[in-house]
Amino acid sequence: MSLVTEAQLVVPALILLDQATGGQMPTSELSRQLRALLRPSGQDLAILANRNDDHFSQKVRNLKSHDTLKRQGLAEHIPSGFRITDKGRQIARSQSANVTALADFPLDTSAPQFEDMGNGAEVVVIDENIVTEGQLSTRNVTYRTRSRQLRDAAIEHYTKDGKIPCSVCSFDYGLAYVGIGTGYIQIHHLEPISYNGETRLALDEAVRKVRPLCANCHVMVHRRHPWLSVERVTDLLHVTYDYANL
Ligand SMILES: [Zn+2]
Ligand SMILES: [Zn+2]
Repeated sequence: MSLVTEAQLVVPALILLDQATGGQMPTSELSRQLRALLRPSGQDLAILANRNDDHFSQKVRNLKSHDTLKRQGLAEHIPSGFRITDKGRQIARSQSANVTALADFPLDTSAPQFEDMGNGAEVVVIDENIVTEGQLSTRNVTYRTRSRQLRDAAIEHYTKDGKIPCSVCSFDYGLAYVGIGTGYIQIHHLEPISYNGETRLALDEAVRKVRPLCANCHVMVHRRHPWLSVERVTDLLHVTYDYANL
C-alpha cells in the first residue's frame, strides 16, 4: 500500500475538521489525525530531501498551498490551518459518521493483494509469500519485489489530478471507500511478459505496459482467454464514476 493522493485526503480532512472544536484545526494536528486514520505506508513515509518531513505530510500541507479545500469552498484558511465552511460540513456529514472510528483498526497487511505477475499467472500476494492456486511458493518472492517497484512507479505515473482512477470505469478506491480504500488499486499487465524478472525492461518502459484497474474491471479483462483488451472492456461497460463534486 502506498501513495495516498491529495484528492483522497479531502473527505477525511473535512470529516476531521467537522468534528474539531469550532470546525478548525492547525495543519500539523490535521496531519497527525489523518495519519492515524489513513495509515500511510511505503513511499508516503519516505523523508523528503533536505526536510524533516515525509511525503504524506507534504500532501496534507498541499491541501493549503494548492488551495484544494478553499477553491471548492469547503474550508477557509486560517493562519495555522483550516476552518471548515457550511458546504464542507454538508459533505462531511453526508459521509459515514463511522469513518473516524476506523483509526482504531490497523490495516491488515496480510489481506490478499491480487496482482498480475506478468507471466500470465494471476497470483494472490500475501505478505512475503506468493500463493498460486493454493500452493505456497517462496521462490517467487523476487517477482513480488520487482512487481512492487513497478507498482509504485505505475501509481505515480497514472495519478492524475490527485486521483488514481481505474483505466476502464474511473472508479477510485480512496474516493469511494473513505478511509479504507486509500492507496488501493490493481495493476494489470497489458503484455504477458513484462518486467517479470526475466526480461529486464527499463522501469519507465514497463510502466507504459501496465494499467491501473479496479477489481471489477480487472476480473472482466481476465474473463476470456486470451485476455480482453482494456479498450474492449471499456466498450462493454455501461457504468462510469464521476467524482467531480468531491
Ligand atoms: Zn473499473
Ligand atoms: Zn491483469
